[in-house]
This record gives sequence, C-alpha cells and structure tokens, in this order.
Amino acid sequence: MSDKPEKLITDDGLRLDGRRADEIRPMKIEIGVLSRADGSCYLEWGRNKILVGVFGPREAHPRRSQRADTAVIRYKYNMASFSVEDRARPGPSRRSIEISKVSREAFEPVIMAELFPKTAIDIFVEVLQADAGTRTAAINASSVALADAGIPMKGLITSCAFGKIDGKIVLDLNKDEDNYGDADFPVAMTQDGEITLVQMDGHLTPEEIREGLELVKKGCKEILEIQQAVLRKKFETPMGELAEEAAETSNTENEVVEAEAPLEYASKVAVVEEALKETEEFEDAVSEDISEAGAVTEAVPELDELEEIIKEAEAGIEEETIEEVIESEIEEKAEEDEADFEASFEASFEEVSEPDEVEELEPEEAVSGEEETGFESEIEEFVEEEPQPAEELQVEEEAGIEEAASEETLESEPEVESEAESREEAPAEELEAEEESVEEPEEEKCEGPWKVVKDPSESGSRGEKDE
Ligand code: UDP
Repeated sequence: MSDKPEKLITDDGLRLDGRRADEIRPMKIEIGVLSRADGSCYLEWGRNKILVGVFGPREAHPRRSQRADTAVIRYKYNMASFSVEDRARPGPSRRSIEISKVSREAFEPVIMAELFPKTAIDIFVEVLQADAGTRTAAINASSVALADAGIPMKGLITSCAFGKIDGKIVLDLNKDEDNYGDADFPVAMTQDGEITLVQMDGHLTPEEIREGLELVKKGCKEILEIQQAVLRKKFETPMGELAEEAAETSNTENEVVEAEAPLEYASKVAVVEEALKETEEFEDAVSEDISEAGAVTEAVPELDELEEIIKEAEAGIEEETIEEVIESEIEEKAEEDEADFEASFEASFEEVSEPDEVEELEPEEAVSGEEETGFESEIEEFVEEEPQPAEELQVEEEAGIEEAASEETLESEPEVESEAESREEAPAEELEAEEESVEEPEEEKCEGPWKVVKDPSESGSRGEKDE
C-alpha cells in the first residue's frame, strides 16, 4: 500500500491522476471475448481489468435451485489473488459474497427472467486487476456481457461511484482516493435513471449525497454511451455489408450445389446413380401397371350389372327372410326324398308280385278287402297278432325257410322295418327261436320277417310262383 499523499486534490483543482472532480477514468470495453460463453465482455476502467462471462438461460442445477415461474440469476464476483497489491486470499469471502448479492439485485429489475422458468442465468466476474471501483466496473461489464448473450433486458445497467476526498465530492474514485478518502458511494442505475444499487462507506451529508448523485448520473450517462457504442458496433451491421454477405452466401450455396463429387467418392456416386436410375424405371413400370389396371376397370361394363343383381338379391332377402327360404328348401328336399322312397318301394313290390296280381292289388278295395294277399297286409297281421308258443313258431319257421329261401326281393326296406317292429313286440320266446334259426346252415338261413308269417301256405304259394 502506497503512502498517504499529502493532498488528493491539487491547488489547481485537479486530482492526482489529472482528472477533474466530475470525470471518470478512461474506459475501454471489448465484447465477445470468450468463445465458450453465451456472452462476454472485457472491461478496462482506469487500472481495473475485469472479465465477465454470461451463460444461459440454461437448465438450473441443482434442481432444487430451479424456480417454476422464472429464471434464477446467479452472480459470482471473484477477485483474482494476483489482482491486488497484497495477495488476495483465493475463494469466496464476506466481501465477495456481499458484492455478488448487491450486484445480482442491481440486475434483477431489468432482466426478463420470467421468460425462462426453471432456468439459470449465470454471470461470472473475474477481477484480474483491481484499483478501486471493481464492483461498479464489474456491473458495467456484466451489463454488456448480458446483452451480448442475448438475455432479454428492459435496458442496460450502468454503475459508477462518487466519493469525498479532501472534503470535496468527486466522481469515480481511484485506489488512493478510495483508501485515503472520506467516503465511497457506489451506485447502479437503469437507462431511465432508476437506481438499482446504493452503498455507502464513510460519512456524507444529505447535500453531499445529492451532489454526488448528480455526478453519478453524469458518469453513468457517459458509461452508457460507451456500452451502447460497443453493442451497436457488434450488432448493428450496415446495409451495404449485409448485402455483400448475402451475395457471398448465395454464391457459396450455388457453388455447393454445382460442385462435383470428389474423386475418392466417384465409385460410390456411380453406384448411387445406378440405384436411382433403377428406382425410377421401377416406378415408371408400376405407374404403367396402375394406369392399365384403371383402364380395365373402366372398360368392364359388367360392374353396373353386378351391382343391380346384388341390389335385387338384397331386396329379395328383405321380402322373404332367410329362415323362410331355408325352411322351404328343407320341405322341398323332404318331399323329393319321400317321392323317391315311394317309387323305390313300388318298384320292389312290382318285382315281388306278378303283373296280374299287381293290377289286382292296385285298386283300393283289393288292398283293404278280406282277401288281402299283399305283403303289407301280411306285415300288419304279424304286428297285430298275439304272441304264439315257441313250438308253433318253430314249425312255421321251418316251413317258411323251405318255401321262401330263394326269394331275393324280400330285402326291401319295408320288410326290414317290419322286422324291427316284430322284434320290439315279440315275446322272449320268439326272439330265442329267431336266434336259433340264425345258427342254421348257410343254405337254409333265411332273413326277413316271412320266417314268422302266420299262414305258411301263402308264403309257399309265393315261393312257388317265384320258381
Ligand atoms: N482491495 C485489496 N484487497 C482486498 C480487497 C480490496 O487490495 O482484499 C483493494 C482493491 O484494489 C479494491 C479496493 O481495495 O479495488 C476497494 O475495495 P472495495 O471493497 O471498496 O471494493 P471496490 O471499490 O473495488 O468495489
């Protein structure tokens, strides 16, 4: 630390560095100096050298730091250990934490954080060289860096301090003035002059503060002009340059489109071109097929006819339900079967009887009279007659077998049905006799109900006729 000078303001009213009371130190600003940051700024103000990097809006980590309705603004002021005459202790300190807090609050009124909920906007300040007024210098640099990052803001923030040295209010204290002065009063404000930060170190009267604030307004106005000039230089591009850039871009695009493939890809390009050609040929063939199919469809007049047929069928189905149609078909089928059965029955009957006898039997009176000689009347008599003793049945069977063994026409269906009926109604003795007859020799075996006919002479007469 340098020794205390005898005077901070010389006799001609100038300060030791040659400035007048209302002058700020020379300020130089560079924008976009950090490639990895979204926005950055390097600021020299007197012998202060400040570097600021802005990151965001980006997802806030840790998650518990997120806010659902707005972005969180994080401001980290750090003084490099080599930035001061006496080595500064690395890491956060009470002073750096305090400066970080008030500086963040200085920006909160202008940053439109509500547009980026759950995100964070990080502002990192590194003081590379300190010579008093580093917080105000950092705020000015941060304002430019935020604009460089594209963070929506209602306006820029500018900051400057005033102080009191040798009993006189002056603007923007340097290191000796800060160390050996009577007061230090840093201020930050918006473009509209609304104050967002006020601190005071020392003793000042209200009149001195009023006088000092007027100086600060003047100083902030000058700083704002420097900031705006820097931002304007980066983001405002003359129309002539824009036209030239557009022309260059269009020329480059045309060159890219017209550029031929390098030799190293020549073989692959040929393969791709061949595949494209095959694909086009295939698509043409498919389109031709489709067009031909369409022509065939148009040339078929039967479509209209088919539609009419379908409509008629649907109308028919409506008038006559499907169930009725099926029932009528079933009835027709049953009638046909019945007719076939009767025809076959009559045919078999004709084979059994002589033509003359058939003629006699056809009239109803002959069939229903007492002198029934037809096969049906025999069956009816058999069904209706009382069970006979086993001995009589056996005699009858033997007689029937001898006389009717050669009859072939007795295998007709009605006879079989009669046999079944007789089996149902015949007593056990009869059934046993039948079983015994089954055990007879092959040539004497006779099947059919005529084995048990009541009158053997009738059966024999038929057998004689067959012979
Ligand atoms: N300073 C220092 N060592 C420290 C802190 C500050 O040498 O640990 C110097 C530094 O040059 C700084 C000045 O003291 O600029 C005034 O510090 P102050 O706390 O007033 O903050 P500033 O004026 O930089 O915003």
